[in-house]
Amino acid sequence: MENLWIGGDRVAPASGQYTALIDPATGQEWARVAAGNAADIDQAVQVAHQVKADWRRVNSRDRTQMLNRLALLIRDHLDSLATLESRNTGKPIREAREEVNLAADCFEYYAGAINKVGGQTIPVAAAGTSFTWREPVGVCGLIAPWNFPIAITAWKVAPALAMGNTVVLKPASQTPLTALRLAELAIAAGIPAGVLNVVPGSGSEAGEALVKHPLVRKVSFTGSTTIGTHVMQLAAEDIKRVTLELGGKSANLIFADADLDKAVLKAMWSVLGNAGQDCCARSRVLVERPIYAEFVERLTAAFQTLKIGQPLDEATEIGCLISAQHRDRVAEYIQLGQTEGATLVWGGGRPVSDELATGAYLVPAIFADVHPEMRIAQAEIFGPVVCVLPFETEAAAIAIANNSVYGLSGSIWTQDISRALRVARAIETGVLSINTGHSVHLEAPFGGVKRSGLGRELGLAVLEHYSELKSVFIAE
Ligand code: NAP
Ligand code: MG
Repeated sequence: MENLWIGGDRVAPASGQYTALIDPATGQEWARVAAGNAADIDQAVQVAHQVKADWRRVNSRDRTQMLNRLALLIRDHLDSLATLESRNTGKPIREAREEVNLAADCFEYYAGAINKVGGQTIPVAAAGTSFTWREPVGVCGLIAPWNFPIAITAWKVAPALAMGNTVVLKPASQTPLTALRLAELAIAAGIPAGVLNVVPGSGSEAGEALVKHPLVRKVSFTGSTTIGTHVMQLAAEDIKRVTLELGGKSANLIFADADLDKAVLKAMWSVLGNAGQDCCARSRVLVERPIYAEFVERLTAAFQTLKIGQPLDEATEIGCLISAQHRDRVAEYIQLGQTEGATLVWGGGRPVSDELATGAYLVPAIFADVHPEMRIAQAEIFGPVVCVLPFETEAAAIAIANNSVYGLSGSIWTQDISRALRVARAIETGVLSINTGHSVHLEAPFGGVKRSGLGRELGLAVLEHYSELKSVFIAE
């Protein structure tokens, strides 16, 4: 049984309640985790509040060394963390390993930033010296989703600690395990007890209590737009600082002059990474009319080669979804697409294999002849489903891409550099890649526009969101 992690120790939940974690590949219970509630959140926040002055005084060299040690410990535990993540989420072990490495990279990156980011002196119109201090915000309430548990936890925890904040993290109910391990490793790395606390629990109880707690000064939330809207409303009460990383329905624009061999494969992985449970999934593929039929044919051939299999199998490319309930929700969208009149070209059913019969598996689906107004072209399905839409002109492609309440990611495929830049400017999104599917880099800002979010994570940009600028003037 997994307990809460508060003040550097395992702590039993106030309610005495534990919830079952279901292995999505078998449908069987495989762990039990403490169900934290408002009392546990309060305890964790109080501890984080008590230690914040001491943590802030730790000098930059020592803090850098601690975060670097944590990165090394994560790498030392690569296999066990990746196995835990893969079993918990159903994602292929190969992807889980990449994500654990990404978490280690993230701690190293922010360890390196600690002694390079500070305030400024400013030439004000007065006799004296004006300067700024970059100060920690205080206790940060961090809320993570289930799709990339350890990676997104690191995206939040590393910059928060680097800037001298203390943390209470609420992982997603379904995926609390790697965050709990991370907090233990933080102690082994020398990060003082109470600086990083982890309270698993339901969003409606533990999550809300964290957002509402008066001693929490900043909330960073990654999850759905619906819950993000609610979190922002709750945070407004105390004017808490808020970062929101929310949903997406990103577009991949493929022009007739694109290198099709590359574009087809990358378009597939731009939507099927993590079985499509990815906020950045470019799940609307917009293809210029002259190559539309060929593209659909080639994409279908590529989907047919995918190795769907058990998460821990090294050969697996597509694992299972997070739960049977989520698989059923995705399957409803596949039904809906057919009702709306789109053509289901491939997939959408359960794999025919006894070995996979009990898990939350779904054969990745391709819809062609999709109209931009269809619900399958508007809703974030968050599963292995791609909509392929034809377009006639550059202007039409931009209009279809921007016909979304979201604006998180996107890709453009063309050999024409001027067009690539023109289209890149016109697309309403936070992140874009040109002639590649690879758009998220630790060192570059990441985040959304429109209903995809508020603020940025990653890069040096995020440090602004984990610090306050204090302005000081000394008269001469
Ligand atoms: P979710 O249902 O919104 O949950 C996200 C987190 O919020 C979970 O820890 C959840 O706890 C918690 N929560 C739920 N209700 C809450 C409340 N009333 N107050 C405070 N916290 C609450 O999202 P999800 O299903 O885990 O993740 C999928 C969504 O995340 C997708 O929309 C995806 O696009 C988005 N996402 C965005 C990014 C990005 O960077 N933009 C990255 C990854 C995912 P429970 O687990 O107990 O519900
Ligand atoms: Mg949810």
